[in-house]
Amino acid sequence: MLASPTIRVAPRRRELDFQLFEVLDVAALLDFPYFADHDRATLAGILDTAYDIASETFAPFAAELDVFPFQLVDGGVATPASLKRAVNAYVEAGFMGATFSGADGGLQLPATISSAAGIVFNAANGSANAYAFLTIGAAHLLAAFGDDEQRTRWMAPMIEGRYFGTMALSEPQAGSSLGDITTLATPHADGTYRLTGSKMWISAAEHDLSENIVNLVLAKLPGAPPGVKGISLFIVPKFLIDEQGRPAQRNDVTVTGLNHKLGQRGVINTVLTFGERGACVGYLVGAPHDGMRQMFHMMNEARIAVGAGAAALNLAAYDYSLQYAKDRPQGRRLADKNPLSPPVPIVEHADVRRMLLAQKAIAEGGLALVLYCSYLVDLATASFDESERDRANLLLDVLTPIAKTWPSERGIDSTSLAIQILGGYGYTPDYPVERYWRDQRLNPIHEGTTGIQGLDLLGRKVRMHGGAGLQIFLDAVLRDVDAARDLAALAEECTALAAAAERLAAVTRALLEAQIELGPERALAESTAYLDAFGTIAVAWRWLAQARVAAAAPADDFHAGKLAACRYFVRYELSRAVASLDRLATLDDLIVNLRPEAL
Ligand SMILES: Cc1cc2nc3c(=O)[nH]c(=O)nc-3n(C[C@H](O)[C@H](O)[C@H](O)COP(=O)(O)OP(=O)(O)OC[C@H]3O[C@@H](n4cnc5c(N)ncnc54)[C@H](O)[C@@H]3O)c2cc1C
Repeated sequence: MLASPTIRVAPRRRELDFQLFEVLDVAALLDFPYFADHDRATLAGILDTAYDIASETFAPFAAELDVFPFQLVDGGVATPASLKRAVNAYVEAGFMGATFSGADGGLQLPATISSAAGIVFNAANGSANAYAFLTIGAAHLLAAFGDDEQRTRWMAPMIEGRYFGTMALSEPQAGSSLGDITTLATPHADGTYRLTGSKMWISAAEHDLSENIVNLVLAKLPGAPPGVKGISLFIVPKFLIDEQGRPAQRNDVTVTGLNHKLGQRGVINTVLTFGERGACVGYLVGAPHDGMRQMFHMMNEARIAVGAGAAALNLAAYDYSLQYAKDRPQGRRLADKNPLSPPVPIVEHADVRRMLLAQKAIAEGGLALVLYCSYLVDLATASFDESERDRANLLLDVLTPIAKTWPSERGIDSTSLAIQILGGYGYTPDYPVERYWRDQRLNPIHEGTTGIQGLDLLGRKVRMHGGAGLQIFLDAVLRDVDAARDLAALAEECTALAAAAERLAAVTRALLEAQIELGPERALAESTAYLDAFGTIAVAWRWLAQARVAAAAPADDFHAGKLAACRYFVRYELSRAVASLDRLATLDDLIVNLRPEAL
C-alpha cells in the first residue's frame, strides 16, 4: 500500500476565512444588536475550537466508525467510546447551543459561523456529527413551536446536550408522500396521546450517547383530514419523565430493527414501532393538523444542513486527492521521451489537473452557496430593516431546495473524481475517498429526494408570492454582474452569467405558463433538470462573488486558484446549464409521453 497523505481537517482555514470574512463579510453581522455580544475574535475563536475538536476527536476514528458493527441487543445499541468522546467534546464546547438565543440558554451566534463550524465537523467525520445535527434541528423546532412546558422539559436538555433528538417522518409505505402516513395518535383522558404504528429509516432513534432521546413524530389523529392537512406533530420520548423531571420509565416506543446502509454507516438507523403494549405516550406540539407546517421548520433547516454536509464531503475529498496528486509519482510529461527520467507527480498531468479543478469548482462553489444561505438566515433573524428580513426569507425559500440538492448531486461526481485521481488505490477501503463517495450518495435521497426538491422549486417556490423570491435572485445576480463589469479579468464571466440569468428568467416564465396551459404533468416533467440548471447558475453567481474579491487581491496562488475555478465553472458548468435550459424551453414531451410499458 502507498503511504497515505495525512487526513487534514477540510476545508483549509484560509478557505473558510476567505469565504466568511472577505466574500460574505460576516463581521458586519455583529453590528446587529442580536449578535452584539460577540466580536470578530469570538467568531475566530469558535472556528479555532471547531478545528481543534474536529482534528483531535472527530477525524481520527472516522474510518473505524464506518465499519463499527452496531447491533441491536435487548432493544438497545451500544456505541464506541470514540464516538462518546467526540460527542462529549462537542457538547462541552457549547456547539449544541451555538445558534439558540441567550434566553434559551444558547450562545446566540450567527448561523453562518455555526454552519461553517458544522462543515469542519462534517468533513472530519460526518456520521459523528449527525447526532448533534438532528438534536439541534429538533430543539430549534421546539423553540419555535413548543409551549413553555415542552421547552423546559424537552428543548432545554437538548441545548445542554443531555437529551438528543430525532425527526420521525418516514414510514415503510410513505417516504416522499408523507400525506400517506398511517401512524395514529389517539387522545388520552389526561391530555396526552397514545401512538400506534411504525416509522422507517429513523436516524439516531437508539444509542447510549444521551440520557434521553426526543423523537419528533408525525402522526394523524382519528378522523383527521386526508393528506398532509391531517398531519400533527408529537414529542415521543424514549424515557418518560418523573415528578422530579428526570428520565424514568421507558416509553412504549421500540426499535424493532436496524437498517444497514451503503454509507454514513456511523449513524444508527432504525425501524421504530410505537405502542406494541398500547402505552406509547406522545405530547402534541402546537395545534392539531399543523404538523407539516411545523416540521417544515426543521426540514428547511435540515435541507440546508444536508447541503452543507455534502459540501463538507466534497471539500474533504478534494483536499485528499489534491495532496495525493502532489505526492504520487507516475509517468512523464508528454514531451519527455526519455524512459530513464524520473517520474513526475500526477498533478503534472493535464488530465489530473482537469479533475482537480472540477472538484475545486464543485466543492468551493457549493460551500459558497450553503454559507450564503446561512448568511440569509442571519439577515432574516437579526437585520434592523424589516424589508431586508423579508427579502432574505423570500430568497431563502427559493434557494433551499437548491442548497440541499446541488452540492449533493454534483458531490457524487466530485467525490467520484477523487477516487479516479487515486486510481486503483482510491477504489479500496485503505483510503478514505471511497467512503466520502458512499457517504455522499445518501444526500440526494434523505430530507426529500432530488425529484421532490425539483417539484418544490418549479411547482411551488418560483411561483410563491407572485414570483418575488425568484425576482430577488435575478436582481441580485444582475446587480453583482454590474458591480463586477469594470474588472477586465471577469468580463467573460459577467457576460455569460448575465445571459444565463436572463435565459433562466425566460425559461421559468415559459414553464410557469405551460403549467397553466398544458398542466403540471407536462410542465413539471423535468423539474430535476430545471433544478440543476438553476443551481448551476446560483453557484456561478457565488463563484463570481469569490472571483471579484480575488481579482482585487494580491495575485498569489490562492487568488489565482479562485479566478481559475470561476473561469472553469463558467466555461464548463454554466454553458451546460444554459444548454439544458434551451432544451427545457422546447417543452420536450419525450419523457412525459413515455409509457411505462415501453421501458
Ligand atoms: C440513511 C437514511 C437516513 C434517513 N433518515 C431519516 C430520518 O431520520 N427520519 C425520517 O423521517 N426519514 C429518514 N430517511 C427517509 C428518507 O427521507 C426517505 O428515504 C426519502 O424521503 C425517500 O422516501 P422513500 O425511501 O420511501 O422513497 P420513495 O418515496 O418511494 O421514492 C423512490 C423514488 O421515487 C421518486 N418519487 C417518489 N414520489 C415522487 C413524485 N411524486 N414525483 C417524482 N418522483 C417521485 C423519488 O424521487 C425516488 O427517486 C432516511 C433515509 C435513509 C436512506
